[in-house]
Parts: sequence; structure tokens; C-alpha cells
Amino acid sequence: MFKRVLAALMITGAFAAPVIAQSPAELDPEIEATAKNLIERAKVDEVGLKFVEDLTTEVGQRLAGSEAEAQARNWSVVELTNLGFDQVRVEPFKIPFWSRKHEAVAVVAPSPQPLVATALGGSAATPDGGVTGQVVRFASLAELQAAPISQVDGKIVFIDETMIKTMDGSGYGMAVRKRSQCAEAATSKGALACLIRSVGTQPHRMPHTGIMARDGAEGVGPVAAISGPDADQLTRLLERSPVTVSVDIQTEIKPNAPSGNVIAELTGTDLADEIVLIGCHLDSWDLGTGALDDGAGCGIVVGAAMLIADLPERPRRTIRVVLYGAEEVGLFGATAYAREHGDNLDKHVLASESDFGAGPIWRFQTRFGEAALPYARTLQNLLMPLGVTPDENRANGGPDIGILARAGVPVVTPGQNGMDYFDYHHTPDDTFDKIKPDEFRQNVAVYAAFTYIAAETGWDFRKQPELNSQGTE
Ligand SMILES: [Zn+2]
Repeated sequence: MFKRVLAALMITGAFAAPVIAQSPAELDPEIEATAKNLIERAKVDEVGLKFVEDLTTEVGQRLAGSEAEAQARNWSVVELTNLGFDQVRVEPFKIPFWSRKHEAVAVVAPSPQPLVATALGGSAATPDGGVTGQVVRFASLAELQAAPISQVDGKIVFIDETMIKTMDGSGYGMAVRKRSQCAEAATSKGALACLIRSVGTQPHRMPHTGIMARDGAEGVGPVAAISGPDADQLTRLLERSPVTVSVDIQTEIKPNAPSGNVIAELTGTDLADEIVLIGCHLDSWDLGTGALDDGAGCGIVVGAAMLIADLPERPRRTIRVVLYGAEEVGLFGATAYAREHGDNLDKHVLASESDFGAGPIWRFQTRFGEAALPYARTLQNLLMPLGVTPDENRANGGPDIGILARAGVPVVTPGQNGMDYFDYHHTPDDTFDKIKPDEFRQNVAVYAAFTYIAAETGWDFRKQPELNSQGTE
């Protein structure tokens, strides 16, 4: 059912014309004035920042499927209800649960010393007491994949690939391949375990975790990330002599653990059945307190919605805030939402999510129907004084709403400056103090402005050019 609805809704105009060449659509002066007022109020907003402070302090880490994630859902329901949202609810679903119980990686010979390491999410356990073996180093995943079995069999693989620091996070996709594929590539050639240089960009002994198997709770082999300085140390040791390491990873697994999406709304007026969705994910990795990933995103969308809630009148369309569950371990919340609401996607007029930390927004991408591109220009013009550059009609939506974008729901992606994001992402250092309040509030301003305009104008962001009598454009 879901798939059929989707095909009918596909936006065909995306990519068709440069947005920058469009003339902006006219915006009602009253709506424009209100949007500008929201931006000013966002600059001193306390609600959004307090939401992420309280969430990361009172709940802390929120590993998908854990008691802590359940506590975060309960906490959010109470908070969002107290803030005055309508229809606050949890849409539950089940996920395979994985958790670390114990992890230790150490050089055994020639000079015994611990390495700072963290098991990757979904890593298989080692036998009790761990495994010990000689290290074989590869400069890249591709090198491991090309290596003969004889080079790997019975050894502990070490992939020493670094990650490039970029503003848009484009270095991540490349670097993360070794995280998801090392265990399989290594184990299939008889390796005892896999170590990777931590996927991250900071020089500290802060290993980065993250999922290595998206389709289930347990992957094919034991795999851990060692911090950058520890990867350097291991490389220097290997330059001098053969090195033996021990890897001990113990895990806990449950096939059917509870998770859920938390949903809260500002019910619209005459267009209440039409939905403007703004989202984030509530779960986090277990090492830090999930402040940048993605407590900040939740604070941004909640803060933005609350500014709109405080207006004298509700906007015409319903604003739906979705705090997705179980994003980190395989986008389970996104899939559950699409399943639950698949029959109603034509009523989703716009969707957006914040899931890239709290750095300032520097560009504004859309994915609208071709005849709706003037609306994109109007939104971009309004956001330019906040330092936001107009960008093209090629937004993919992000991890949790990507599934909606692929189903034809128009999306906007406010692009944050993520230059420092991977210094903290998935590490013990992802904590509340890393959020810069002024940059965070600039995000709240952007979300408040475009969400309000989308909800109040009634604009059709799917809009396609009208067909002439021959049925062609
Ligand atoms: Zn995230």
C-alpha cells in the first residue's frame, strides 16, 4: 500500500531548474512581519535550549531500545504536554537491541599497554576472555577487501583510514564504510576481530562508536574503534616490530526491545488536516549524553514550534513535531512512521529535520515541485539576514525524513556548519557544554520562520507546472 501511494506522489520537478534563477513568490505582508518577529524572538529564546539541557541532564544517554530511551519518551511526553502541545503521544515499535557490557583492547606484546577503544554498535561478542592475535594493518577498507586470505587468517585486522573534516559532513559517508564493513571483510577471511581508526576528526583519545550492522542486533564479527592517538600509537609500534593485541568485547542482545516515536502537535485552524512536520531523533549513543546528536535537534524543533505556539493565533495547518526513536541503530523510527502514516502522506505538505548538531545554518536547500520554486526563493530571502545562503532544489531530507522525501513529500534541509561536528559525534564528549547558545538560537530562528510560513500560507510545495491542452508542459 505504502509503495503505491508513494509513486503517485513523486516530485518530478526536483533538479529541473536552478532555484536562484526564480523570482520569489509574493508573501502576505502580515505573514512576513510575523515571521520576522519570530526570528527576533528566537534570538533570545530559552525554551529550546532548556529542552536539550533538561533532556541531556535528567535522562542523559538514550541508547535505542534501552530503559533510558523509554525514560526519554516518558520525559518528553510530560515536557511537551506541559509546554502546551496537543495530541502528545507515543507510537511504539520494536527493535533488535544491542548493548555493550564490557570492552577492552590492549597491546600484549612487545610492550603491554591499553588502547582506548569502544565496541561498535552491533558488534559480535568475542569468546569469554577475548581473543589475542597478531595485528595486520591496512591503510583502507579497500586494501583489506583486496588482501589474500593468507594475510588475514587468524589475525586481528586494523584499518587505519582517516576522516576528512568538512563543513557539510561529506567526509563521513566515506569514513563510515570501514565501520560498517570491516567486521564482514575481516571475518570472511578468518580474522579474529577488527579494529578501526575511530571515525572522527578530533585529536583526543575519544573513540567514536556507531552502528556496524543495520539489519539486526548482532553483526558478523567483533569490531571496535580505537581513538585517533591510539591508532597512531599502534601504527608506530607496527613500524618497529610485529604487534600482538587482545580484544575482549562482551555484549547484551534482546531481539524485541521497545522503542517508539514521540509526537506532539499544534493543531491548525481551517487547514488542520494538512501537516508541516519538523523532526529530530530522541535516541542517542551511550557514550556521551547525546547533546549534539541529537538532543540539539529536538531542542531546535521544539523551541521553534513553541515560538509559533505563543503567537496570538494558531497557523492554518497543523505543525507536527516528531521525536523519532531508534535512529542510530537503523532508522527504525523513520520506517515505523512511514508505515503508520503511509496512507496520509499526501497530507504532509512539508517535512524537515534537524540532525547535524547545533552549528549555525549556512545554506537552505529544498526539494519542491518545479512550480513551487518561487516559494523556496521567498523563504531563502527571508533567511538571508541570518547568514543563510540560498541553495539548490536537491535536499534529500536527512536520515529520518529521507523516507518521506523519497515518497514525494516536499522537504527543506537547512544545512548546518558541521566543521566541528565529528569532533564530538558518537563520543563520550558529546555533552551539553558543546552547544553554543547563539548558534543554537539561529537554528531555532530558521526553523520557526519557515515552519510558520509553511503552516500559515497554505502554499503547495508539490506544485508542478500546469499542463496545456495537449497534455504536455
Ligand atoms: Zn543523529
